[in-house]
Amino acid sequence: MDDAEIMGSINDFNEAKQVIPGGVNSPVRAFLSVGGTPRFIKEAQGAYIIDVDGNPYIDFVQSYGPLILGHSHEFVIKEIEHALKKGLSYGAPTESETKLAKEIVLNSEGVDKVRLVNSGTEATMSAIRLGRAFSGRDDIIKFEGCYHGHSDSLLVKSGSGLATFGETSSKGVIADVAKHTLVARYNDIDSVKACIEASKNVGVVIIEPIAGNMGLVPADVGFLQNLRQLCDKHNIVLIIDEVMSGFRASFKGSYPYYKVVGDLYTFGKVIGGGMPLAAFGGRGDIMDLLSPVGGVYQAGTLSGNPIAVTAGLATLSVLKKDLSVYDRLESLANRFATGFSQLAKKYDVPLVTAVRGSMVGFFFNDTSVKDWDSAAKSDTQFYARFHSKMLDKGVNFAPSQFETSFICTAFDNVIIDSVLEKIEACLQELKSE
Ligand SMILES: *Cc1c(COP(=O)(O)O)cnc(C)c1O
Repeated sequence: MDDAEIMGSINDFNEAKQVIPGGVNSPVRAFLSVGGTPRFIKEAQGAYIIDVDGNPYIDFVQSYGPLILGHSHEFVIKEIEHALKKGLSYGAPTESETKLAKEIVLNSEGVDKVRLVNSGTEATMSAIRLGRAFSGRDDIIKFEGCYHGHSDSLLVKSGSGLATFGETSSKGVIADVAKHTLVARYNDIDSVKACIEASKNVGVVIIEPIAGNMGLVPADVGFLQNLRQLCDKHNIVLIIDEVMSGFRASFKGSYPYYKVVGDLYTFGKVIGGGMPLAAFGGRGDIMDLLSPVGGVYQAGTLSGNPIAVTAGLATLSVLKKDLSVYDRLESLANRFATGFSQLAKKYDVPLVTAVRGSMVGFFFNDTSVKDWDSAAKSDTQFYARFHSKMLDKGVNFAPSQFETSFICTAFDNVIIDSVLEKIEACLQELKSE
């Protein structure tokens, strides 16, 4: 697109940068890894987002996962409108919080109790505190390439060489905190054993069962099952982070794919239906260590916010009414992945794809992708050019090679096929440049 067609976004971005660091409230939105101008959005409907200049885009970002029903779903919006008239926040318990908690407990293996919070970051931070309290041990293990929000303990990447103790991945995180986080390799059980050996004080392991934050890299079934056994053997609390995969990979999250049960779970994204809402939960004996029952402090002024809870309940109720919707979403995801693979072959572009339910990932990469090291071999320059051209053609993919794409219920075969046509044109152009 030439500048004239996105003048509104260009102006808005410049103005935003005066008062918001980088012009955005979450770094990936600034387009730093793909270049170009982030589109400022004025509204969104179903499969489409529309920028301030009026350009529509088929949206594979869907707010990075929450909007499984697509943008502005009629029933969800109607429920929120009703709720709005009853007040925005009470700072007191409501019946609908229990309703949402029940919905999560009933449909999640291994979850006896949950507490609602406002973001995935809060959920994982609190679950880790709880896991440390229960195990009585300070060290935790995370996996390179998995993202669990931005609390200090989790902004850690693997150090150089064989060292398993992490280094901070953000300035401002003190080494004394980071040294309690060990970083293992995804899909590599031996690396977990090495961390446990090196520390001798591991109390918690946290993992994305279907990693969606290094692009889409599902865990191998055997790996996750071995991880469960290893945690049992060493009395380690296993936190399964389903913030992205929960109610998204299937209505029961990752469980149907792995049959692995965590001690604690974290949820977010879909359970808030597009509003700021997340949760952590798990075994009753661990959850009852939480204040006010037990001694682990955790709180929130807006936790269980009635509008957010309404959006979450409305979203889950639509999904629950017809669970075959997940099959439909997965077949759309497969149609996209298969079609894209065929085109990549035709134009001699190395491509790796993965699908889990309504999550679909693609890497411009010629090795199989099973961990961060292999994901990182992807051609990010090619992705940047692809991203920019697709945006020009009216398709919004995430502004980074290392994000998952999301299929929502507003998608259909016609939309997928039109996207595949645009991808073909895009690959043709990229190859001839
Ligand atoms: C998005 C995400 C988070 C963080 O959630 P926020 O609401 O952005 O804080 C944590 N874990 C996983 C797996 C996520 O995908």
